[in-house]
Amino acid sequence: MGVLSNIAIVVAAISFLTFVALFGQLPVLRKTPIGWLQRALCLHAPRGLRALDRVTTGGRITIKSKRLGRYLFYEKNPIVIIIFLGLMTGSAILFLCFAIPELPASLILPIPFLVVQPYLFTWLCVRHRGHYINPSTHTTRLHDYPYDDTLFVANNTCSTCNLAKPARSKHCSLCGVCVAMCDHHCPWINNCVGRGNYRWFLALLLSLGLMEIYGAYLSYWILRPFLTINPGNGYFGQAYWDDVLRVTVIAINAGGLSIAGVGMLMVATFTLPLGLLAYHCYLIWAGMTTNESSKWADLREDMADGVVFKCSREALRTHNRLRKYGDRNAGYGNGSNPGFANGASGSGYANGGSNPALHDWDVADELYVAWPISSDQIVVRTMDGRAPTGQEALWTQVWSLADVVNLYDLGGWDNFMQIMKGG
Ligand SMILES: [Zn+2]
Ligand SMILES: [Zn+2]
Repeated sequence: MGVLSNIAIVVAAISFLTFVALFGQLPVLRKTPIGWLQRALCLHAPRGLRALDRVTTGGRITIKSKRLGRYLFYEKNPIVIIIFLGLMTGSAILFLCFAIPELPASLILPIPFLVVQPYLFTWLCVRHRGHYINPSTHTTRLHDYPYDDTLFVANNTCSTCNLAKPARSKHCSLCGVCVAMCDHHCPWINNCVGRGNYRWFLALLLSLGLMEIYGAYLSYWILRPFLTINPGNGYFGQAYWDDVLRVTVIAINAGGLSIAGVGMLMVATFTLPLGLLAYHCYLIWAGMTTNESSKWADLREDMADGVVFKCSREALRTHNRLRKYGDRNAGYGNGSNPGFANGASGSGYANGGSNPALHDWDVADELYVAWPISSDQIVVRTMDGRAPTGQEALWTQVWSLADVVNLYDLGGWDNFMQIMKGG
């Protein structure tokens, strides 16, 4: 019990300090002991240490710590994956060394299968490079998805890669490239989760959760002789809970760090990968990536601000064609100012008076993309909450995401199959 209680004290102390560091600067806690402790920890202590470092080493430790901080948090590095694999391997070895002699063959059989999978899927996630967009893959990636003219518009060039951004892609500053169907950069796998390795990422979360549940079950199976509660006490009364506490302490003493400690770790953490998996299942059901979910959230806020408008692509194309051939009588509005005077932008906010919603429809060089569904919708955001000047009749103000089509949502099952297809 001694080692376990020490571990529990260390975990509690780390949890408390993390809470203080994260929440101590909230206005509501600023003038409380939590706020004072946060300032002492995060402001005064580092300042004191820096002053001490200046006196003793001329500031060399400060410079090196800043470099380390930059490396850990702002550069691509394998630290998290090393900690994750180290913790997983250490726990598995510790647990299995003591558990195997206690288990029957029928319970041992699934272990190799369950233990190997998280390593396999981690490796598949980490080594994947097929979603990196470079000059040789660029054309293929442009044909993956159509531009929806809502979240993604054509003719948007990545200033770092100097390549036109394919629909659903995102530049990752940590990986240093644009990533196809980018979901998010995951320090856990030291790579971006995107087209091709998303399925391995989901498999990693599932396999990790299943392995932990099975490990927790084996821990319970070994310790179950100690977990006998006196039925004479009834259920859920004071005597019952006293009994639960008593047998738990006995089981922890009997199981020690290897069986009870690792078992508790698995019980405490199996919800993390499975919770994340549930969140990603929701995203897949809704037909969006993590990156797109934040774009939809931004769009929802802009709708609440009353600055979002939509129009028919076909109507805009007809309008532009008429404008091009000078048929002002057939145009919309006053016909004399067909541009977007307020500088609406399909990809974000007004920038320099040009409107990407007008892009290319005149030159008709749309890329052919084999996507099962299509949409006639163009969505723009304006700076002043007014419809694009000269085209007021074309545009309708949008107040709800329900009025906007998500071109990338094929329906729950088909979205899932798209992810499973990978590549
Ligand atoms: Zn890029
Ligand atoms: Zn990345």
